[in-house]
Amino acid sequence: MNIPKSHPRYESLMKRERVIEYFNKGIVATAGLIAQGRGEAFDYIIGEKSMDFSLESERAAVALMKSAKNPIISVNGNATALSAEDLAELSKILNARIEISLFYRTDERVRKIADEFRKFGIEVLGQNPDAIIPGIEHMRALCSREGIYSADVVLIPLEDGDRAMALKNMGKKVISVDLNPLSRTSQVAYISIVDELTRAVKNMIVFANKMKENEIGGILNSYDNKKTLSDVLKHIKNRMEDMSK
Ligand code: ATP
Ligand code: MG
Repeated sequence: MNIPKSHPRYESLMKRERVIEYFNKGIVATAGLIAQGRGEAFDYIIGEKSMDFSLESERAAVALMKSAKNPIISVNGNATALSAEDLAELSKILNARIEISLFYRTDERVRKIADEFRKFGIEVLGQNPDAIIPGIEHMRALCSREGIYSADVVLIPLEDGDRAMALKNMGKKVISVDLNPLSRTSQVAYISIVDELTRAVKNMIVFANKMKENEIGGILNSYDNKKTLSDVLKHIKNRMEDMSK
């Protein structure tokens, strides 16, 4: 599809096309198309840009990952379609390995996602899982021992609520990227990034490149995730009120 650059929602439509393209390639699952639509709806409501609450949580997320022993970036089909190149860059800057973690896991999808990341010089974990996340059913629980299983901090873009909860129950600090502030994922996360994934990862790369070691403690001490979630809902409420005048 040819979308003119002048289209007011060019960025959003390009992302939609990309998710469809990766669905056709066998990387995005059918349910991933529906998830993208839910994300678009929340992005429309929020205003389709990174807000202050987004940037604050992205900065705190980078600080937390920099201070972690074994930070891991979990990826699924949608995250691969939208942000593989930027996630690969973030992984290198933060020294955080990437692990494939799929709700609808098939060997073929795993292989195709691994191939995508190889284009950017990354060998992903999770291709031959050797551990399970307790409390969730078999296929969805598969993970890698050196990766998610032993991680202290896990970045989970567009993750399902059950698994986010299970990771929290394992004692991990979970960082979510999810445009829905009400999703169980956003609600259980230690740091909830409410922003569109491609924008969030680009912002995190900027923060990761400029953050100094001596700033990390202060950033983490002053960050309040309850306030972030509350600010998101206040922003939505105020925006709806303004627009309904
Ligand atoms: P729960 O967390 O309660 O399980 P859910 O079942 O709606 O919620 P999932 O389908 O498991 O959520 O995860 C997809 C989530 O990702 C949705 O909340 C959706 O709004 C969000 N999402 C989809 N695309 C994007 C995107 N590009 N950027 C950020 N968030 C997105
Ligand atoms: Mg869910």
